[in-house]
Amino acid sequence: MSAEQSIREELAEVGRILEYEKLIDAFGHVSYRLDDGALLVTPHMPPGKARPEDFLRTDAQGNVLSGAGRPPGEMAIHTAVYRNRPDVRCAAHFHPPRCVLLSVLGQEIIPLTNMSALFHEGTPIYDHPELILNDRQGDALLQALGRCKAVLLRGHGVVVVAETPAQLAVRAVALERSAEFQYAAMLAGAPKRYSAEDLARTAADEPKHVQRCMRYYRAVLGGGGQ
Ligand SMILES: [Zn+2]
Repeated sequence: MSAEQSIREELAEVGRILEYEKLIDAFGHVSYRLDDGALLVTPHMPPGKARPEDFLRTDAQGNVLSGAGRPPGEMAIHTAVYRNRPDVRCAAHFHPPRCVLLSVLGQEIIPLTNMSALFHEGTPIYDHPELILNDRQGDALLQALGRCKAVLLRGHGVVVVAETPAQLAVRAVALERSAEFQYAAMLAGAPKRYSAEDLARTAADEPKHVQRCMRYYRAVLGGGGQ
């Protein structure tokens, strides 16, 4: 299997995982930056239903090079990610309800659990409910994201970035689970926070965590990998 084909399989798998976890429905999209600078992106369709062959190949500006259909309406999110973050290989935009709720409350994710320690650099809030439809908005969103792994778009959704599709899927699930936990903890009282040392130590476990989660998803949903 070619490198691109294997990435296509993994991107389709990310969609299935996010759908299984009820993080996406009709909306949302994922993308990947290939070695030659071209992007693979979910076409304008429910992301959990996208097959490997459905992903569009576009240039860095989002112009379609091959594939049927059109790019997502908020393609500017993905082009902005790869323009501003050379360290990032893949990205997802979706609308998980607890994250949106926290964004409306002006609350970033507070790392209160092992899973949320991944986001110890912060999850800034992009303080506009608008859709991201052009480069100006995309760059403003990326300015909010900074060097972090995720940004909350107030009243709208999230953008999560990663180096691999598997890491992207696990971060996306961890982000919404963190928001669910945090919301419940905020209602119940004043949750105790991790120390900086605990956060650094726990966040360093991410590769093991990703491997374990992907083994689980492949057992439940089928698909390749170990
Ligand atoms: Zn959106």
